[in-house]
Amino acid sequence: MRTEKIYEKDGMCMSFHANILETVETKQGYALILDRTAFFPEGGGQTADTGVIGGVRVLDVQIRDGEILHYTETLPEGTAVACALDAEARFRKMQNHLGEHLLCGAIHRAHGYENVGFHLGADYMTFDVSGPMTPEEIYAAEVEANRAIAADAPVRCYVPTKEALQTLDYRAKSEKLEAAEEIRIVEVEGFDRCACCAPHLDRAGKVGLIKIVDAMHYKGGMRFWALCGFDALRDYDTRLREIRALSALFSAKPHEVVSAANVKMDEISQLKASIGNMRREIVRLKLALIPPQKESVILFEEDMDALSMRELATAGAEKTEGVFAVFSGSDETGYRFTVTAKSAPLRALAAEIRKALGGKCGGSDLMITGQVSCTEREARTFLAAKFN
Ligand SMILES: [Zn+2]
Repeated sequence: MRTEKIYEKDGMCMSFHANILETVETKQGYALILDRTAFFPEGGGQTADTGVIGGVRVLDVQIRDGEILHYTETLPEGTAVACALDAEARFRKMQNHLGEHLLCGAIHRAHGYENVGFHLGADYMTFDVSGPMTPEEIYAAEVEANRAIAADAPVRCYVPTKEALQTLDYRAKSEKLEAAEEIRIVEVEGFDRCACCAPHLDRAGKVGLIKIVDAMHYKGGMRFWALCGFDALRDYDTRLREIRALSALFSAKPHEVVSAANVKMDEISQLKASIGNMRREIVRLKLALIPPQKESVILFEEDMDALSMRELATAGAEKTEGVFAVFSGSDETGYRFTVTAKSAPLRALAAEIRKALGGKCGGSDLMITGQVSCTEREARTFLAAKFN
């Protein structure tokens, strides 16, 4: 490779000078090859760095055919260029990536599990380990990983000789390493040693905070969602706002919102039960007012819920030789309806209602439900002509 990888030796380097060795025109715009770069190309679960080269935006960085290509829309002037990374974005990635090393290191020490997956997304960092863990074990690993931050342990990145590597104890994704020519070690002094190609912070203290925000059992092991540093701070702030809003809503102290919510849920359950009782009583009273008759019964209710309509129509079918129809709504908004009958072929009626009154409906020969956009008068005229 023609390009010196600054990011491998110095993860904290955010601006540098370089010479453009070659420019290639590609489908994605221009691709610049530099003699040295601090831009990390996408790899190992981490996205490419962005920034500027000679005043021109770097949109993506990829390794292609052994070259590091910096993709830009236009070409910078000259060949000697000043380069700068989007430092905040890179710092965020390094906080999360080193946080993942520390968590996996702590889990490996306590349980012997390997890291079998890593992805650093825009919102969360996720990683997988090879065995199951209890919530208590997860919390213990989290505390252990944060100890490295508290100790502000130095971080060193180096490529040991093949001989030195043989006696070195380090974590690695074995299947990937077999093909690798040389192995770069990222070591957090006293806490973790791991094979990794990404740029890293120079001290663990810069991670700031490591917080696992979610975990699930996955393929016999665990998948974790975690946030580090400023991402963790932002998340804390968002959650705190939510809790404050809930606390105001329930007039409860922030750490008592769950019990306050439970009290409200109980109240809602009781209210639902009394509404149900009242609803059934209304249906019973309405039915009591209707004598058994030959003619069809057509009721228009202003605002009746679907369940009451159904119960009323089901029991009402016994009251008439014709159809028992319940409509609820208004001429402006249209009507929902339920129609029942002991003997009328209601499925055929549904087709006629769709044709004559618009809207949609369906069901069986015993009951049809649906909605129409006609007026009460139109519906009554239609049903009277059909059944009375
Ligand atoms: Zn790594």
